[in-house]
Amino acid sequence: MAMRCKRCRGAAVMEVRRHNAAFCRDCFLHYVGQQVTRAIAKYRMLGHTDRVLVAVSGGKDSLALWDLLLELGYQVDGLYLSLGIGAYSERSKDVCQEFAAARGARLLVHDLAGEHGYTIPEAAGKGGRSSCGVCGLSKRYVFNRAALDGGYDVVCTGHNLDDEAAVLFGNTLRWDVPAMARQFPVLEATRPGLVKKVKPLYRVAERETAAYCVLKGIDYVVEECPLVAGNTQMRHKETLNQMEEAAPGTKHSFLFGYLDRAAGLLKVADVADLTECARCGMVTQAPDDPASEAVCAFCRSKSRLVTSLPVVSA
Ligand SMILES: [Zn+2]
Ligand SMILES: [Zn+2]
Repeated sequence: MAMRCKRCRGAAVMEVRRHNAAFCRDCFLHYVGQQVTRAIAKYRMLGHTDRVLVAVSGGKDSLALWDLLLELGYQVDGLYLSLGIGAYSERSKDVCQEFAAARGARLLVHDLAGEHGYTIPEAAGKGGRSSCGVCGLSKRYVFNRAALDGGYDVVCTGHNLDDEAAVLFGNTLRWDVPAMARQFPVLEATRPGLVKKVKPLYRVAERETAAYCVLKGIDYVVEECPLVAGNTQMRHKETLNQMEEAAPGTKHSFLFGYLDRAAGLLKVADVADLTECARCGMVTQAPDDPASEAVCAFCRSKSRLVTSLPVVSA
């Protein structure tokens, strides 16, 4: 029997098993918009007078988010950071630029190699962090700095329900309590030099952001980053997908149960003493030994990477 739309009883095109629902095209787009509106309201993520910056990668999540925020009437510019991952990065940048041009939206483009002297493939295996570790660190740094420099009030990222459940799963397996304490849909700017960060898609599953893009005709980069294959978070996602298949709603109750009932208990674990980096001036954790110089993780990583790279002569 053909599925019927839960909202209008028309022919459904998309099933959402964890909500025991199916939707036609228009009602599905309405449902996604409603999930984002609920997320924004519940955690007071954004206001209509805020200047908002959305970090876009060219993938389905971040472009769906930018599209949704524009439709909801927010003042939202995009930020693309080129990571220097060959043709993958070039295609990602093109897709973001085309998205922005089609909507008359503003896209800021930053370049890791041009601004900081390294690319993510060069960073792989050097400096003691995985390429995904250096990539995450570099993105957090550049996004925060670009938002401060550009006078933005809040940075949005496209982390979806699957991403958040997988990160929580990994943190729980290691009982990384400080990381768990910081994993929340909103992180307020608790002092000057920090920018508020929000995840308006945390209620929306990965396959739903993909369906949103397809149904709205948004061109996005379908391939995963070539460096991500086999990483820990991908394995955690696969495990959770198997559990979700057997019992729809597993990811939802794992993540939402954490946010509603456990996250508050862990807030005390996030008591880092903050100061300014002696090299770049950005906010960082104060060193344990007050006599030693505070240097942020990004500056430490960068100095290891840039000195270990071959010197290019002009
Ligand atoms: Zn419908
Ligand atoms: Zn620094």
